Amino acid sequence: MSRNISLVFPIMGMQILLILCTTLSHYYIELNALQNIITENEASKAEDIHFIVESLIDKEISKLSGLSKVLKNRTDLIDGLSQYEIDKNKTNLKQAMDMLFPQMEVDIFQAADRNQHVIYQAHAPNSETSVREFHGVVEAMLAEDILMASQTKEGWAIRAIVPLISGDNLLGTITIGTWINDDYAQNISNATEVHVSIGNANGVIASSLPLVERRFINAEAMKMSILKLKPIREVFQKQHKNIYYAPMEMANEPFSLMVEIDTMPSFQLLEQNKTHIIKISILILLISMSIAEGYTLYLLRPLKKLNIKVKNTVKELAGIDLQAAKGNELKTLVRSFNIMVKTISNHITERERAERALKRHKDKLEELVTERTTELEKSNTKLTKTVKELEWRTNEILLLNKLGDLLHACDSEEETYQIVINICRQLFPQDSGYLCIFDDSQKVLRIVSYWGESSPEELEFEYNQCWAIRRGKEHFIQDPDVDPICQHLHIYPKDGCLCAPMSAQGEVLGMIHLCIGLTEDVDRVDDTHKHIIESKLILVKSMVERYAPSLINLRLRQTLKIQSIRDPLTGLYNRRHMQEALEREARRVERRKTSLGIIMMDVDHFKAFNDTYGHEAGDIVLKELGAFLKQRTRGEDIACRYGGEEFILILTDANPENTKIKAEEIRADVKDRLKIKHHGQTLNITISLGVAIYPTHGLTTEETLKAADMALYKAKANGRDCVEYAV
Ligand code: GH3
Ligand code: MG
Ligand code: MG
Repeated sequence: MSRNISLVFPIMGMQILLILCTTLSHYYIELNALQNIITENEASKAEDIHFIVESLIDKEISKLSGLSKVLKNRTDLIDGLSQYEIDKNKTNLKQAMDMLFPQMEVDIFQAADRNQHVIYQAHAPNSETSVREFHGVVEAMLAEDILMASQTKEGWAIRAIVPLISGDNLLGTITIGTWINDDYAQNISNATEVHVSIGNANGVIASSLPLVERRFINAEAMKMSILKLKPIREVFQKQHKNIYYAPMEMANEPFSLMVEIDTMPSFQLLEQNKTHIIKISILILLISMSIAEGYTLYLLRPLKKLNIKVKNTVKELAGIDLQAAKGNELKTLVRSFNIMVKTISNHITERERAERALKRHKDKLEELVTERTTELEKSNTKLTKTVKELEWRTNEILLLNKLGDLLHACDSEEETYQIVINICRQLFPQDSGYLCIFDDSQKVLRIVSYWGESSPEELEFEYNQCWAIRRGKEHFIQDPDVDPICQHLHIYPKDGCLCAPMSAQGEVLGMIHLCIGLTEDVDRVDDTHKHIIESKLILVKSMVERYAPSLINLRLRQTLKIQSIRDPLTGLYNRRHMQEALEREARRVERRKTSLGIIMMDVDHFKAFNDTYGHEAGDIVLKELGAFLKQRTRGEDIACRYGGEEFILILTDANPENTKIKAEEIRADVKDRLKIKHHGQTLNITISLGVAIYPTHGLTTEETLKAADMALYKAKANGRDCVEYAV
């Protein structure tokens, strides 16, 4: 709490002092200004009042003058005085004066005879003075009227002496007048609301002041004002009096008129204002204090928080545990703040130094990183290239392996053509080319399949049109001006082409031709181009190395197969295969509910033929007959050499009539058309035929064959060169 006060106190104190100073200064200035204003005001006011009093007195004198003119012509007064002259009877005079006096508003109303003896006088109702005899003025009798201010035994008065004349006789005088006494002064005072005193060189004559306060009347000042004919002012600050003495002439008599202004009301008003000012000042002070207190309390909390934060910051930054100055947050705050600023400044300097060092280090690192990045990018590019190459190589190996697998699974050579081309299409997607198989019998290369955009114009060409076949090794045409161009090429590709021969066991099998078609983005000058070409050549060689053994193997298998089911001399199916085929066909016709025609035939007198022309000629007969039968049978029919010079023809889905017709045709054609050339001779043969229908002539194939054999036997018996039918 003391810490709070310490903070509040200076702020509040300063505020209070400031407000007080402002208020008091203001008040002081106001007070002085007001005092001056009052003094000045009172002075001018006294002068004004002096004029007013003079005018009031003049008015009074004028009134007396007016009245005297009225009285001079009053016949009743003249008559009354005439009566008195005659018989000393005052009755008429008294009646006239009693009647007039109430109307006069004068203090003195006297009548005197020609000898200046007062014969009648009336009392003013409020006049305490007993009117004594005025000394008549002789001159008045001569003059028309006399206005004068003079002292009597009873005091000073202003009188108008009015002569009453009848004819040329002065009957007497009427005196009207006003006492210049305290009542007179009081009346003037009441009219002007200030105290008025009248005096002459001998002292005060009349005053509106109470007796106790008349001590302030300065007789000397009165005298001096009359003698020097100038006003004199006296100010009594403590008594709140402002007194003004000024000379005045009243009915040709010099007087001094004193006007006393009581400044007390003005000062009281001032005091009242002062009280108001003080009250307002206190109110403002209280409001200021409240505002200051509220404001300070409002400031105090964040200030305290700020103090704690700054203190903590200083402790954190500089390691200094600041002790708070007791009861003085501002002092603590300022001290903490200074330390904090200094510490932060040090920190900033250190930090800037560190940052500069860090920046230098960072720049170096960045340079290093840039270098490393460039190297890495290069390595990465190389690696990517290598990886791509590896991927491609892997793919190539996979494709080559796939080729091997597929070739292994092939049953015939023809199946391999498309497989090889499909693999080529995958291995050389941008290139084109074809596969040629060497026809040894005709010495030509036959294009069996191809891939790529360009297709070959001719599907067959002489083997010697290809340099690869001729040389028995790969032939790559890179520069047509340097390398010999194969004649089978019709279009020369700009990136070169390759012919890779296929051979195995000394036998030429064929050739793979590759037209290289690189994309435009490949730089054809650098090593990459060369590398790509080399890779392709290696790949084609690999293919050929895989394909050639497979091809030779397939051909071997084919030969073995043919040998196992065919008769080597005639090329027809052998007896074993015929029996298998017959069983298969028999089951088929059973399912189809059809029939199977079996024609068994035997060369007539063949033993004699052998004997006559030799065994070789006999072989030619058998061979020609075999070819003849192969030629005359449909694809689904089966022709086979049953043994020796005996043949069987199995006609699928054939009825007896068809079979008979077919048998007869064969017999006739062999006899008429089959010409055997032997040593320049044309030899003819005939055959005998036995026909049987399965299942018509046998429940089994064996029985049916036997029936056919029986029919053949019958034909032999019937003279040969004829057809006999089983029964
Ligand atoms: P037929 O008209 O009664 O059938 O008289 P044929 O002489 O033909 O009858 P045979 O069965 O007695 O003679 C068959 C002859 O066929 C015997 C054999 O020398 C001959 N032969 C059998 N196989 C072959 C062969 O492969 N080549 C040759 N050149 N002759 C063969
Ligand atoms: Mg025979
Ligand atoms: Mg025979």
